[in-house]
Amino acid sequence: MLTIERELRQSKEFLMEHDHFLVVSHVQPDGDAVSSTLAVGWLLSCLGKKYVMVNEGPIPKRMGYLWQAEQIRDLSAEPLDRKFDHVICVDCADFKRVGKTKEFFAEGARLLNIDHHPTNDRYGAVNLVVPTAAATAEILFELILYMGLELNEPVATAIYTGLLTDTGGFRYSNTSPKVMAAASKLLEYGVDGPGLSELLLEQMTLPQLRLLTRALNGLQLSEDGKISWVAVSDDDLLATGAVHEDMEGIVNYPRNIQGVEVGLLFKVIDEHAVKVSMRSAGKVDVALVAQSFGGGGHVRAAGARIEGTLDSIVPRVLEQVRLQL
Ligand code: 5GP
Ligand code: MN
Repeated sequence: MLTIERELRQSKEFLMEHDHFLVVSHVQPDGDAVSSTLAVGWLLSCLGKKYVMVNEGPIPKRMGYLWQAEQIRDLSAEPLDRKFDHVICVDCADFKRVGKTKEFFAEGARLLNIDHHPTNDRYGAVNLVVPTAAATAEILFELILYMGLELNEPVATAIYTGLLTDTGGFRYSNTSPKVMAAASKLLEYGVDGPGLSELLLEQMTLPQLRLLTRALNGLQLSEDGKISWVAVSDDDLLATGAVHEDMEGIVNYPRNIQGVEVGLLFKVIDEHAVKVSMRSAGKVDVALVAQSFGGGGHVRAAGARIEGTLDSIVPRVLEQVRLQL
């Protein structure tokens, strides 16, 4: 039996056999993480199961239009009042990515790991890991169909959102025929494709634009022109009135410069840690670079959280990128 079929069957069994699930996605959730959380919630509600959706922090305001988005509990605002024996992790390449939500996993909790990162280390008791999928939302589309459920517009909108954001608007190399076929079916359920593109990929808030301008002012280029990077700190957020989610997308600018192979964004978390986002034009496998720092991701988009100061981390990351060039 094909791996994917076996994993779909085992996932279905996991969902059918248990009740009262915790559904979690990765820290600082992106469009795919939020959409996948909600698609699992929708699936569980169809099965008549109880579930709680949670993230370590708030979900991006921009995603507030999604069905039940307000139901995703923000642990930074309020803790949960119980622990869970059955947990569904979506879009988390490794266990660390669940962040503080793990405090609400009961001891010996059984995990269903649904993800599309090639670096996923299969930390679940049951794993539905499909590295060829463009987004975790694409896997959930498949799981929903496999379980014989009929989609509706709200869940179609969630899945479309995950596909749209993880493919950069159906432009990145992960935009497979399968993605386009799925998008086509989702549009038939009444998804507002152009409206979502406008909201998620085009529109910017003024603080977001100011943050981008400020970040690009400090853009750096290596001598050979192959690596370009920018850094953003809390001071930049304060000065521009921008919020954390406004940093998303900045990393594309250094990467888009002609001749640049790797674009980097260093987000200073505090005096002790930096989050680095990496984007590749195709030659360099940035997932490998990220893994060397304990992170992960995809060949062309990866990230890691690195302990240390910005000044010490930048040269270390540049060195690892150069080794891959
Ligand atoms: P971003 O740079 O947009 O945060 O993430 C790019 C890709 O790398 C995403 O697929 C994301 O899930 C993955 N990624 C980002 N940070 C980490 C990390 O700290 N660990 C792992 N394993 N993957 C990460
Ligand atoms: Mn994803």
